[in-house]
Amino acid sequence: MRLSRYFLPILRETPKEAEIVSHRLMLRAGMIRQEAAGIYAWLPLGLKVLNKVNAIVREEQNRSGAIELLMPTIQSADLWRESGRYDAYGKEMLRIQDRHEREMLFGPTNEEMITEIFRGYVRSYKDLPLNLYHIQWKFRDEVRPRFGVMRSREFLMKDAYSFDLDQAGAVHSYNKMFVAYLRTFARMGLKAIPMRADTGPIGGNLSHEFIILASTGESEVFCHADYLNFDLPPADTNFDDIPGLQSTVDKWTSLYAATSEMHDAAAFDAVSEDKKMSARGIEVGHIFYFGTKYSEPMGAKVMGPDGQEKPVHMGSYGIGPSRLIAAIIEASHDENGIVWPEAVAPFDVAILNLKTGDAATDAASERLYRELGAAGRDVLYDDRDERPGGKFATADLIGVPWQVLIGPKGLAEGKVELKHRATGEREHLALEDVIARLT
Ligand code: ATP
Ligand code: MG
Ligand code: MG
Ligand code: MG
Repeated sequence: MRLSRYFLPILRETPKEAEIVSHRLMLRAGMIRQEAAGIYAWLPLGLKVLNKVNAIVREEQNRSGAIELLMPTIQSADLWRESGRYDAYGKEMLRIQDRHEREMLFGPTNEEMITEIFRGYVRSYKDLPLNLYHIQWKFRDEVRPRFGVMRSREFLMKDAYSFDLDQAGAVHSYNKMFVAYLRTFARMGLKAIPMRADTGPIGGNLSHEFIILASTGESEVFCHADYLNFDLPPADTNFDDIPGLQSTVDKWTSLYAATSEMHDAAAFDAVSEDKKMSARGIEVGHIFYFGTKYSEPMGAKVMGPDGQEKPVHMGSYGIGPSRLIAAIIEASHDENGIVWPEAVAPFDVAILNLKTGDAATDAASERLYRELGAAGRDVLYDDRDERPGGKFATADLIGVPWQVLIGPKGLAEGKVELKHRATGEREHLALEDVIARLT
């Protein structure tokens, strides 16, 4: 992408409505724009990051055996009357009437709809286990939308729903998601700690929230410091290995970790003083096992091996990709801007042409742009007629992991400068060496 042709509305001033750093940086970097309270447009740079986050979420869901579909955002109220949640859900639900005065709603979550889909097709235990997920916009009329996409009213959610014949099967399905979540967040450069959590209005009895520690987090959490150094499950994890997954989950739940709703002061006291962490955290994911809470009232049953019909055991598993982006920025920024982990960076490389119009500089920049592009790298070429200082500031603000600075002085000695955003390290290299390094 040539920056001269791109749509990157960078703000010079720090927007005063933004209270936390991720919100400030997302606005300044031209990633999002508020269209109404808690409702955001995703500008091109923001959308690029959102797509990268979604791609990682998808890969890890698919790897664990979950299957993607897509459900609509608008749901019928009648579906929610079947589970009894239509009235119970309260004011967070955006209720809508269509032209025939039928009651509709903008989905805050999809347990009812997926149960309706399941019961329409699945009849036998032989078709289980099944885990279906989608990545779709949700609406919750939050009392206090704030912090940008961290707590918005319209937000993106990956929500998965598992179906099993019995509780033992459902626990294995739960463990698959647990392990997939550990990998998902780690791939985004985050240290997420699974914490025992309250099940809330979704109901059930086995639940973990995945929490990123951050001083700006809205949750109060208590946990053992060793979680920060635990080994992660490998990419070739066998998700069908029941005892293997259980032992990973056992390890990741062996030490104390709980949100304030589930906090047990006596148990926390038993943690050694130097390992006790009492902190703030951001909830980026949440998994539940809730048994037959929806399958029973909604009649989602399968025939078991004994010929008896039974309501299926279900779980649901959410991740907030839009909130995750804010969480990644909270965890990874400096005074100059965002420091994207490479896996989710909007561009892999920025080329900074420090003297547009200078024939040698233009030629070297264009050549690098062409070759990196041909090698499949996502490149932002700052070809604008602007002073170097402005180009440095833009590249740092939007957090491109690798920056190549090309100017007449360096070229006179056959060199360009390669800068690593995260460490600030700079190297003077021949253009060929930069190409070799970045491809
Ligand atoms: P919170 O406690 O922050 O209100 P929640 O417990 O209500 O979140 P869940 O129902 O567990 O949220 O939804 C699954 C995931 O969706 C959350 O873990 C979070 O990542 C994301 N999410 C929920 N509400 C919002 C929101 N208002 N804005 C952005 N993401 C959200
Ligand atoms: Mg909530
Ligand atoms: Mg919560
Ligand atoms: Mg939750």
